[in-house]
Amino acid sequence: MKKPESIIDIPRSHPRYESLMSREKIVEGLHSRVVTESGLIAHGRGESLDYFLGEASAPFSRAAARAAAARLLVSQHPVLSVNGNAAALVPEALVELAEVTGAVLEVNLFYRTPGREEAVEAALRRAGAKTVLGVGKDGNATIDELQHSRRIVSAQGILVADTVFVPLEDGDRTEALVRLGKTVLTVDLNPLSRTARQAHVTVVDNILRALPLMVEEAKALKGRPEAEIRQIADAWDNHAGLAEALRFMAARLTDLSREV
Ligand code: ATP
Ligand code: MG
Repeated sequence: MKKPESIIDIPRSHPRYESLMSREKIVEGLHSRVVTESGLIAHGRGESLDYFLGEASAPFSRAAARAAAARLLVSQHPVLSVNGNAAALVPEALVELAEVTGAVLEVNLFYRTPGREEAVEAALRRAGAKTVLGVGKDGNATIDELQHSRRIVSAQGILVADTVFVPLEDGDRTEALVRLGKTVLTVDLNPLSRTARQAHVTVVDNILRALPLMVEEAKALKGRPEAEIRQIADAWDNHAGLAEALRFMAARLTDLSREV
């Protein structure tokens, strides 16, 4: 596939700079086999919702990021499940979040084509990851509740995890993980997606902003008394969080409708 002309020299002052740079990362990911064609479609769906959010983290985004970070910190065996789009957009932040919270990174792909999981692993290793589960022979266990290639998981990772972070995840898989009794955390710009509604903590924000927020919150919480961290994790009401996100978007659109 011929690589399209790069947009990388877009000036920082461009009003859509962040959005254009993230598209560049996704397209780069497509050429290095980290991202699939359907990943491009998912990215576009996310961007449209980011317009409604005003392309900025809202107070509820930070509150959810804190609850998710708290849950990772009090879990016995937290796993960060990494798909193509996440690896293309925020590899460094994923590695840092794993380090700060003591979670392990596991590659888990919808489309497990030959060489692709290795490409995702390479992206994480370039970002500084020392251990990456779920690749090649480490994909050594199956979860029957999960469909197709995503049944393949690591026996040291998702199989035994109490908490799984699944940013930009499909609803079927989220549902299966919840059914298995896992605590599920996600980042999803769409408060109406099945994943957003089924997860225990949904950070409604762009993953580009949400991951740094989670790292920041994890660093701030780490070292606090365990009971305090647990209280923050337990107090999170995900349906209330999603309702707030929807009200925020609705109010913003109403305000904007007066300006057009
Ligand atoms: P579901 O299966 O949960 O009902 P879906 O089928 O609409 O959702 P999927 O492609 O399965 O969507 O999952 C991708 C999700 O990730 C979508 O909800 C999309 O809005 C969201 N998303 C895409 N890009 C980003 C991003 N950069 N940051 C946050 N969320 C994103
Ligand atoms: Mg889906």
